[in-house]
Amino acid sequence: MNLSELFNDFITLIYPRYCPACMDGLVKGEEILCSRCILELPRTNFHLSRENAVFNRLYGRLPIHSGAAFLHFHKQGTVQNLLHEFKYNNRPEIGRILGNVYGEDLEKSGFSAHFDHILPVPLHPSKLKKRGYNQSEEFAKGLGERLQKPVETQVLQRAKPTETQTRKSRLKRWQNVEDVFLVSEPEKVAGKKLLLVDDVITTGATLEACGQALLEAGCTQLCVAGIAYAAE
Ligand SMILES: [Zn+2]
Repeated sequence: MNLSELFNDFITLIYPRYCPACMDGLVKGEEILCSRCILELPRTNFHLSRENAVFNRLYGRLPIHSGAAFLHFHKQGTVQNLLHEFKYNNRPEIGRILGNVYGEDLEKSGFSAHFDHILPVPLHPSKLKKRGYNQSEEFAKGLGERLQKPVETQVLQRAKPTETQTRKSRLKRWQNVEDVFLVSEPEKVAGKKLLLVDDVITTGATLEACGQALLEAGCTQLCVAGIAYAAE
């Protein structure tokens, strides 16, 4: 054992590292997530069949090529612990590792062949300021790292709804039209096959709004993926 290893063991003794999903202590060689959680987290495996819950949730609303989500989200479960730590405890590295692990699943199944670029759903600027990072972007970067695909973080932007859009939203209350998205660099979207990445997929309203903007800007094939999927 060299000095730096000794030092690391000493640090671990004072500040025990724990797995943000199961809250068990991490052992030597484990980084961020424990090995059991990497194996046993409740994967949806949606990427293995095209007609899955994410695809169906967006069906008729957003013409996607395929959709998927890494984990099943249940209130009061390991995934909730994990996402809570990730979003509210200043731990952007959790998103990177989740993206790495999921990227491997997507590669093995061939799902990753359906897109060339990855775009995260942008976070509301006030939330970004408070949190310091966009959780969807960290996850997207983890995916991009594993899949060797570029992650575009500036292309899709949140904008304030204009007067006209606000009026429209009164007619379309079923849509979450508080969120308006703009494509700031259409040349990075036109003619491209894209993967749009969100954190927890619930109603799909955010994906729908972002996806419409991307398709209008000329994206030729759109896939979506979430860190987790919540059944309604
Ligand atoms: Zn664990």
